[in-house]
Amino acid sequence: AVWVSEIMLQQTQVATVIDYYNRWMQKWPTLQALAQASLEVSVAGAGCSPCPRGFSSNTVPCLLEQEVNELWAGLGYYSRGKRLQEAARKVVSELAGQMPRTAEDLQKLLPGVGRYTAGAIASISYGQATGVVDGNVIRVLCRLRCIGADSSSPAVIDRLWDMANVLVDRSRPGDFNQALMELGATLCTPKAPLCGECPVKQHCQAWRRKLFGKPAPVPDVEDCGVGGCPLCPPAAEPWDSTLGVTNFPRKAAKKQPRAARTATCVLERRGCHGAPEYLIVQRPSSGLLAGLWEFPSLPLAQGLQEEKQREVLADHLQAWMGWPVVAKDLRFIGEVVHIFSHIHQTYVVYSLPLDGDVTLDPALSPSRWVTQEEFYASAVSTAMKKVL
Ligand code: SF4
Repeated sequence: AVWVSEIMLQQTQVATVIDYYNRWMQKWPTLQALAQASLEVSVAGAGCSPCPRGFSSNTVPCLLEQEVNELWAGLGYYSRGKRLQEAARKVVSELAGQMPRTAEDLQKLLPGVGRYTAGAIASISYGQATGVVDGNVIRVLCRLRCIGADSSSPAVIDRLWDMANVLVDRSRPGDFNQALMELGATLCTPKAPLCGECPVKQHCQAWRRKLFGKPAPVPDVEDCGVGGCPLCPPAAEPWDSTLGVTNFPRKAAKKQPRAARTATCVLERRGCHGAPEYLIVQRPSSGLLAGLWEFPSLPLAQGLQEEKQREVLADHLQAWMGWPVVAKDLRFIGEVVHIFSHIHQTYVVYSLPLDGDVTLDPALSPSRWVTQEEFYASAVSTAMKKVL
């Protein structure tokens, strides 16, 4: 349970995670249940044609991946669910069902478990006296010690891990780590910290500096406070008294997200009861939105004229449908913008109603026809939901 919650909470707010966590734990309450489901599908995979879920090609273990992706849909960073499933399988099949119990082993042996997650599992579940550093801890520790260099720099991150490992309570490491993270989430907040209520304010250099104009003397002058220190604020960015403790932490200027354009086409046919059905295809198993489903889509080169966009999209669709698609038959619907953390993505949306049936080529990526209801229940990204 700690593992699942920590993986889901990476880059995601608690309020968003709660429902996903409950549904996941209901479906796979233990690591063995998840691993078992995965192994069962691997065994059944070779015989699951025709696929009961309507997939046009048979990848093993397609069903479980599908279920994981469906359950994860909307949570973002989809590879996390896949890694959880892989790691559960590894624990059961290679580690005799025994979870590694130290942060070092967890990080070394389990896919998708990084330094933070390993520290959280080891301290909370197994009582190892090891620290954790997440966004909240970074903020608290940078303020406690007036660390003003870029908080994402390796020198600062290494020092914060050292501090977290020294500070952690040997007798109750899990409680200590959760309390430190909670302090950052509730009192030592990014914009309006409640320093007056803070239980560690007497130890906080940033708070003292705000009150008295300077921090208490730093004990280790070899490490800090002298020119060229990798932890101190750059000389060009001195203490701003209007910001108080929120002078810390400091971050390097954010990179602007890259702009990208993708043409996408909603192919629509009438299903057996006359209701519309849409063709969705599965994305590759690695990279952005790995394994999710989408309308047939094609990245567009920068500056491509509208006419040319239609032509390249028509060629792309032809590969799916097996017959020529006339570019002018594609109806332009509009543009949908979706912001990923590092990409400003614009979908140029077309539609194409079809008469008669289309035989999908099983040699291509998995694809299937879905009703509107099935579409929303499928592992499709939020961006694709906006498109429909
Ligand atoms: S005193 Fe203020 S800045 Fe310092 S740790 Fe507490 S809440 Fe954060």
